[in-house]
Amino acid sequence: MKTEIIAVGTELLLGQIANTNARFISEELAKLGIDVFWHTVVGDNPSRVKQAFRLAQTRADLIIFSGGLGPTMDDLTKETVAEVLGLEMVKDEAWEAYLEELFAKMGRSMTDNNRKQALLPKGARLLENDHGTAPGIWLEDNGKIVVLLPGPPRELEPLFRDKVVPLLPQGNCVILSRVLKVAGLGESALEEKIHDLVVEQTNPTIAPLAKYSEVHLRLTAKAESTEEAQKLLDKTEGKLLTRLGEAVFGRDEETMAMAVARLLWKRNLTFAAAESCTGGYLSHIMTNIAGSSDYFLQGQVTYSNRAKTDLLGINPVLIRDYGAVSEEVGRAMAENIRRRSAADVAVGITGVAGPTGGSDQKPVGLVFIALATPQGVSCRRFNFFGNRETIKERAVMAALNMLRL
Ligand code: ATP
Ligand code: MG
Repeated sequence: MKTEIIAVGTELLLGQIANTNARFISEELAKLGIDVFWHTVVGDNPSRVKQAFRLAQTRADLIIFSGGLGPTMDDLTKETVAEVLGLEMVKDEAWEAYLEELFAKMGRSMTDNNRKQALLPKGARLLENDHGTAPGIWLEDNGKIVVLLPGPPRELEPLFRDKVVPLLPQGNCVILSRVLKVAGLGESALEEKIHDLVVEQTNPTIAPLAKYSEVHLRLTAKAESTEEAQKLLDKTEGKLLTRLGEAVFGRDEETMAMAVARLLWKRNLTFAAAESCTGGYLSHIMTNIAGSSDYFLQGQVTYSNRAKTDLLGINPVLIRDYGAVSEEVGRAMAENIRRRSAADVAVGITGVAGPTGGSDQKPVGLVFIALATPQGVSCRRFNFFGNRETIKERAVMAALNMLRL
């Protein structure tokens, strides 16, 4: 079955909201093994909605509309679809009674606008909306299925899952995806390690996607059942883990910060950070995780030289001789915050975030990240590329990656 999703709404074309409804529906249909071939977006304009619908009729068997079912003037999806199909609008008495009851309960009188919501194209099936006043609509025409859903995601999502999915013909396969997240390996190094797998592998397919300091590998499997698809994914995940080992830090929703937090929890370690160029971003990320008080002791943003000497007790001679952005100062920041906070592990970050302030010896993007542990202090020098925000973000991700090992 070929599916087209038509999202109706001028606000989508103006870029004011993202078309998350199409994304949601596509994701759900993929799980059912139903192919989505087109996403169309069209404004609240009857003639263009008509055009979009007519085109969809020529190429899709399942056409799903999102939006434009509400009571106001610009909500015209239902009427337009009915017109194209040559169907008159008829009242659904039961839905009108339900709406009357709903409005009475809220102590409001029902307007003609609202009454409009009980009108359906003749022969359509009403899909009860438990979260709003506009019902979903299911229509069959010439062997094609046309579904109309209200725009607000909190109405569309449950309506789709609970009312539409059970009516859909079963696809003969299931499509499942899983994301493996990799860090600490450059994109080309990663490519080298798994190139043959990416090329040979057809089920699941492996698609790498570079994201700042991480690479995401999306595995997509097609099978007759969910269990079968999971098995295929597990098998390929196993192969990738053998090749990539520690570089894989998480799966699906898991972030690098979560992976670090999990490690600190497991080893029962506490953490502190002294940050200069990242301005507290590492501390922010490390405290974004519920339960962070188990491991997070303190973070200090020591931006000026004065703050580095006064708050962290860095020897001013180090700053004078090597500069604030130096391995020596980075190391001292990590060591001192570790000692002063009595944390098990501590990080010190100092660098040039730019866009100005760089020099030949210390260009924009130069960042020293030091890690102090009971075993000693190590420091790495990075040359990050990008604008100020990107450099800060990359520095934090690199620090997290150092913490992971
Ligand atoms: P309402 O009864 O709220 O008017 P409706 O079915 O008429 O619902 P729209 O008026 O098109 O739907 O959209 C209502 C709201 O739903 C939008 O303002 C927007 O917040 C959200 N919305 C609409 N379409 C989408 C979409 N494709 N993806 C995500 N959100 C959407
Ligand atoms: Mg509306």
